[in-house]
Amino acid sequence: MAYANFTVETDADGIALVTWDMPGKSMNVFTAEVMDELNAIIDATVADAAVKGVVFTSGKSSFSGGADLSMIKSMFSLYQDEKAKDPAAAAQKLFNLVGRMTGLFRKLETCGKPWVSAINGTCMGGAFELSLACHGRVASSAKSVKIALPEVKVGLFPGAGGTQRVSRLTDAQSALQMMTTGQSLTAARAKAMNLVHQVVEPDQLVPAAKQMIKDGLKPVAPWDEKGFKAPGGGIWTPAAAQLWPAAPAILRRETSGNYPAALAILKCVYEGLQVPFDTGLKIEQRYFTHVLQTTEAYSMIRSLFISMQELGKGARRPAGQPKTELKKVGVVGAGFMGASIAYVTAAAGIPVTLIDRDIEAATKGKGVGEGLVKDSIGKGRMTQDEGAALLSRITPSADYSDLKDADLVIEAVFEDREVKKAVIEAVEAVLPPTAIFASNTSTLPITGLAKNSKRPADFIGVHFFSPVEKMMLTEVILGKETGDRAIAVALDYVAAIKKTPIVVNDTRGFFVNRCVFRYIHEAYDMLIEGVPAAMIENAAKMAGMPVGPLALNDEVAIDLSYKILKATVADLGEKAVDPRHMQLVTGLVEREGRLGRKNSKGFYDYPPKPAKKSLWPGLKNLYPQKKADDVDVNVLKQRFLVTIALEAARTIEEGIVTDPREADVGSILGFGFAPYTGGALSYIDGMGVKAFVDLCDKLAAAYGPHFQPTALLKDMAAKGETFYGRFDPYRVVKAA
Ligand code: NAD
Repeated sequence: MAYANFTVETDADGIALVTWDMPGKSMNVFTAEVMDELNAIIDATVADAAVKGVVFTSGKSSFSGGADLSMIKSMFSLYQDEKAKDPAAAAQKLFNLVGRMTGLFRKLETCGKPWVSAINGTCMGGAFELSLACHGRVASSAKSVKIALPEVKVGLFPGAGGTQRVSRLTDAQSALQMMTTGQSLTAARAKAMNLVHQVVEPDQLVPAAKQMIKDGLKPVAPWDEKGFKAPGGGIWTPAAAQLWPAAPAILRRETSGNYPAALAILKCVYEGLQVPFDTGLKIEQRYFTHVLQTTEAYSMIRSLFISMQELGKGARRPAGQPKTELKKVGVVGAGFMGASIAYVTAAAGIPVTLIDRDIEAATKGKGVGEGLVKDSIGKGRMTQDEGAALLSRITPSADYSDLKDADLVIEAVFEDREVKKAVIEAVEAVLPPTAIFASNTSTLPITGLAKNSKRPADFIGVHFFSPVEKMMLTEVILGKETGDRAIAVALDYVAAIKKTPIVVNDTRGFFVNRCVFRYIHEAYDMLIEGVPAAMIENAAKMAGMPVGPLALNDEVAIDLSYKILKATVADLGEKAVDPRHMQLVTGLVEREGRLGRKNSKGFYDYPPKPAKKSLWPGLKNLYPQKKADDVDVNVLKQRFLVTIALEAARTIEEGIVTDPREADVGSILGFGFAPYTGGALSYIDGMGVKAFVDLCDKLAAAYGPHFQPTALLKDMAAKGETFYGRFDPYRVVKAA
């Protein structure tokens, strides 16, 4: 029989090699069709007496990325549609759907013939769960092999037997660690954890897998053998008595109880290890069905999986623009940002000319790349040859004429209008007519800078975040006259360097910094009210923010906040800033000399390593302190999330951000907005706009008019709308 997604070849020894190779896709993924075909393959190989065993592998460079996004999307829409009619029947349907993959893998495991999974590359989620159901697992030793059950990162957990099989193969602590963090394992680590049986040279993969069958691999999973005991002896042992009472507390410390899927993993393993395997699978299926119905899972999958992929693939790219293969990029300004921008560009295989005022400064910028390469080689992430090739693509220079064949030039010179004007003019004097000019400014409006350009249609903002090599987000900013080709080239560049873009219209602070400063300013308000600083930082983390607002302000630099407040007053007048904020920041910078991490003195003190930073005791003397018991930590948590979400809503109302996916993904990737909410707008949609407006009113009455809900929000609340309904991103695409 011929399959659309698999080939099956049986050799003279009776071993069927099943190769998964989906046509027209760069990566194998589970779809309904794949599951149907796999089911048919199991039946066919069982029925064929000539087949002694099966080796399952991939025809692509990676093994598989797991479930297909359209399959997950359809599960959600099915449930949402049916829920309105009959919630109980909808939940039952979801339960049955969820059980499909579990049942298929269990059928494979109990089919009576040995199956060996030959893992040749990245093997994630459902694909590793399939491998776990095979009786043997052989992994290639290639560096590209990454094994993970990363579902928790998008609000789910391994729900096709993963929690039951991993916890029966490795000790419970390692199992929990792997699944609650979603961490990637190398082949060697997976073997050490007993999750794969062999690690072999890439060219030995299929032969080794076949040999396992020839050596008489038993077609029975360990847990189906009589007398099976989980590693470490299950949960009624002294070691387990050490682990289990602490596990929920550790999880709570790490997640503040914000992630239902992480807790479900704990429950699946704890409960599953006390019952027979098939009952364990049922327990997992029930929790999975429950988690799928949570707002967290829905919102996280939408933003962190679906929207992120769509934006990465150019959802906002203008139609009809041919794709640009960048042959050369110029970076002007080899300082803190420019040096790293040159590095990430070269790492993407694109030759870069890195220009500064003199060759020494340019060469120093390349030195930053050299340091990063050395680090990567040291950590085994790069070979010497790869590092040398990367560095050979960065050419330092002080001569603008070296940009004459660049496709794109990014300026990252001082944040000064006059300096930027001179650079724009000097670059345009040599730039080919087809090239695009991008500015990495963080505060100067793009439309204003473009006034210095003779070709404003080819002028755009490409705003990076520091540290450039780690931050996954890039804001692409449109000036009034920016043309479609500039947008297309900017997005092609961002895709080439493997970052996620959001496209926003021009405004002071663009999207990310507008939201970030709301977060920091709310902390200023709290300090001024006398809330203990430690409580401010902890409440923010309990709300799901990765870094407290005071620590974040130290990273950004308090004197930068000071400069921005002063510039806002100069441009918009005294009323544009809160005078109490100005007083706080002025005092810190001018009187106390506390600039942030950069001078080891900010809201925190930064003693020499290995000592850890600690909150500056002097903060207590700035304002009369409240007693911690008199402060409601839940209100602090709400204030942080609400003030940011309100700002995100304002950017939509003002037409700065036009697509809710971008506000959500931008808020998570840009400043870590509580990921379990799915982002700043999903936070509002998740609780309902009406509930959000009520909350804003309550906070405004107690903490000031900056919490007042906007006209758009009130209108949406009255009409029962959501951001994803009113600003439906897919309708925008269809209309375009
Ligand atoms: P920086 O001071 O570290 O680097 C600026 C570099 O530009 C210096 O090496 C300087 O020698 C060079 N330069 C100045 N005038 C020049 C000229 N005429 N020709 C060539 N080179 C010249 O500054 P930075 O922090 O890298 O910031 C650069 C830009 O990036 C600014 O616009 C800033 O707003 C923006 N930005 C900074 C951050 C950040 O976190 N620092 C984040 C996003 C964007």
